[in-house]
Amino acid sequence: MTELTKTLELKLVEPNANKRRKLCETREVYQQALHHAFDAGCTTQTEANDIVVNYDLSGYAKNALKKYVPQLTTTYNAGDLHDDHPVRFTNEGLRFDHKPENAIEWYVKIPHHEDYHLWLPAQPNPDQRDWLEALNAGDATMGEGRLFERDGTWYLHVTATRDVEDGSEVSAEERTPIGVDIGEASLVTVCHRDGHGSPTDPELWADEGKTVRRLRKTYFTATRRLQTRGSERISESFGDDLWKRIDEVFHRVTREVVEYAESVEDPVLVLEDLTYIRESMDYGEYMNRRLHGWGFAKLHAQIRYKAVEKGIPVETVNPRNTSKECHACGEVGYRPKQATFTCTNDACWMGEYQADVNGAVNIADRYLSGESCSREHENDDDSAEDGACLAAPQDSQADATTQETLGPYAS
Ligand SMILES: [Zn+2]
Repeated sequence: MTELTKTLELKLVEPNANKRRKLCETREVYQQALHHAFDAGCTTQTEANDIVVNYDLSGYAKNALKKYVPQLTTTYNAGDLHDDHPVRFTNEGLRFDHKPENAIEWYVKIPHHEDYHLWLPAQPNPDQRDWLEALNAGDATMGEGRLFERDGTWYLHVTATRDVEDGSEVSAEERTPIGVDIGEASLVTVCHRDGHGSPTDPELWADEGKTVRRLRKTYFTATRRLQTRGSERISESFGDDLWKRIDEVFHRVTREVVEYAESVEDPVLVLEDLTYIRESMDYGEYMNRRLHGWGFAKLHAQIRYKAVEKGIPVETVNPRNTSKECHACGEVGYRPKQATFTCTNDACWMGEYQADVNGAVNIADRYLSGESCSREHENDDDSAEDGACLAAPQDSQADATTQETLGPYAS
């Protein structure tokens, strides 16, 4: 077992003037409390508590300060404080919310005053989606958060940790690639080649594809109807419930994909590179996939973090024509039906083949042909660019369980 720790980077997406002012307020009061406690030479949490308790700050910020100031004065022996320390919050004060139906999918809850917090839309670093999925599912633990502003943009950095199994030492070339195809008919299809090179053990999650399509359709028709009636609240909670059910399907399928990989000796899971998918498609196809883009990204992110948990490596490959080429001869064929691939090469032994399995084998083969990318591209997230903003979580007075200033870090 190894413990992985990562700093998750989220950009707060254009907070309005009111929220911006509140963030500035928090920062200002935090700096005052920090300087006050530091200048007073507090070396224990109790001493720091006596000072920060008087400031109009959230208890989560006060608790973080009580822990931080003694570190500055004793461990780091800091002589001087500069002026732009990030505002720290203990993890209990932060929360994420995922709304895949919205243009900006992620929201973060940031404490403001003692009984007040803000919900803000946030754009995560796209390379860290797997971590957010893990956090969202309770498979990673959130640590301290740090809020700061750079060049007029606000950011929240949050540390997260999770336990992963150590992988085997087998070299990349000796691994057995398992192709993972994500689609509409079959939500996920996996396949690999046996020792003789024949495709073997294909597994398709077709019923789940059907379930997800049905839930999505229900969501879009029902919310449209409720919204025209002005029942936004009902529409929102109804939508949340449907997306939660889709997410449950995703989690089960991605867990089973990783179990499939565990049944293969020295596996590597091979996914299509999402960036290429966008670049290599024509517009209609692109828009179609864009609508399902969150599904791709979400399934990929969940497979990634669950595979890493089990010590299984994940690679991405160029997806160009993976669904159009014949896995036996490489010729571009066609799909007379959604589920069928037909090879047009007369010299090829293969006539018809299950289309999703053909795609999965092609994806696996690209790993061996060296068409893999070590990681997905930076900035593969265009979700901020289009789409209307739907309902967002509401800022509110804190829950009934108001946090105590003397929280878990009190001495
Ligand atoms: Zn062929």
